[in-house]
Amino acid sequence: MVDSTNPETIALHAGWRADPTTGSVAVPIHQTTSFQFQDTGHAARLFGLAELGNIYTRIMNPTVDVLEKRVTALEGGVAGLALGSGQAATTFAVLNLCEAGDNIVSSTDLYGGTWNLFANTLKSFGIEVRFVDPVDPQNFVNATDDRTRCWYAETLPNPKLRVFPIAEVAALGRRIGVPLIMDNTAAPVLCKPLALGAAVVMHSTTKWIGGHGTSIGGMVVDGGNFDWEANAARFPTLNKPDSSYHGAVWTQAVKPLGPIAYIIRMRVILLRDLGAPMAPMNAFLTLQGLETLPLRMERHCANAIKVASFLASHPAVASVTHPSLMTGENKRRADAALKGGYGSLLGFELKAGAEAGRKFIESLKMFYHVANIGDARSLAIHPATTTHSQLNAEEQAASGVSPGYVRLSIGIEHIDDILADLSQALDAAA
Ligand SMILES: *Cc1c(COP(=O)(O)O)cnc(C)c1O
Repeated sequence: MVDSTNPETIALHAGWRADPTTGSVAVPIHQTTSFQFQDTGHAARLFGLAELGNIYTRIMNPTVDVLEKRVTALEGGVAGLALGSGQAATTFAVLNLCEAGDNIVSSTDLYGGTWNLFANTLKSFGIEVRFVDPVDPQNFVNATDDRTRCWYAETLPNPKLRVFPIAEVAALGRRIGVPLIMDNTAAPVLCKPLALGAAVVMHSTTKWIGGHGTSIGGMVVDGGNFDWEANAARFPTLNKPDSSYHGAVWTQAVKPLGPIAYIIRMRVILLRDLGAPMAPMNAFLTLQGLETLPLRMERHCANAIKVASFLASHPAVASVTHPSLMTGENKRRADAALKGGYGSLLGFELKAGAEAGRKFIESLKMFYHVANIGDARSLAIHPATTTHSQLNAEEQAASGVSPGYVRLSIGIEHIDDILADLSQALDAAA
């Protein structure tokens, strides 16, 4: 096994060398639901968590396991769990700590799907989400009480693309014993939230990690850097005897295996009861994408910077949103959290407004008009009528979506072709 902290090497080698029976270098697709036990003692040890191993693919699968190890290594965590989608990853990350009557504090700058989950569905479960503006990190502390189980935010949230002050907020949380969960979907490789103090990282692997628009998936990575016992009353799911697992107390039960109470509980309780595993085939396809992620991020970022400066000087464009063009505190936060690039999401507003935005999108020839982001191909969308259409006008404005705003996810094509397509579509919309 290759031991490296460099993302280029981790992406190709972490968690796998070769198949011990066949010598296969590519990770095999273990398309099976179940695994034969060696004997009854082996089966009993696996069920009793005395030994970790494969039982049933809802809980664990060897192909999925390699992806879990690789993304965990990339984020610098101790263990990870792959799920059927990014939405499932967010849901599990929060439900692993919360029961009815509890609350969490979340940044207002969120993916639309996360907003709906937090504002409506979790509420219907009796879990309150308190939204605060990340402009002032102290807002997180002010919204926290004894029933607050975690804080939640995105590294590089679109459409505003204001980078979250991870180190500042994580440090405030640690002072009062509240963990920060970061959605790092838009900034893999560029940002290491765990190193900045976050306790947990989640990803929609659907986006940059998979990178080729083939497979929906999610990941949760446990940083192993948060003391769930020091303030045991705040984390009942990890510190109370679990009646569904022979009275196990998760912070104690898995101690010999390392600081993995959070992620083990998510696997053996939430994945067992709620389902939503990642399929082996999707793990294989996501691993294929992950192998070239560091290389793709370089090109994504280099192209996005060129697009940002092209649009900023274009006469038809009123404003451009990209961290590379920001100033003051927003630029400082971007530089503090992101290394090697400012990501490949970019927004802009046409001077001629919403109708011109629609015409621009319809005039694109190479960019795809899709709801995805993070694909190797360049993508465009009009958020007000699509991704953010389930929010009311007030919520749209609060999340930074104005009627004429166009969102781009810049791909890895040749920059000349990207700029040529944007240029002709801007002319057509004029
Ligand atoms: C897409 C996305 C999600 C949800 O992921 P799915 O894989 O689509 O379920 C969550 N957070 C962010 C930032 C996303 O872009």
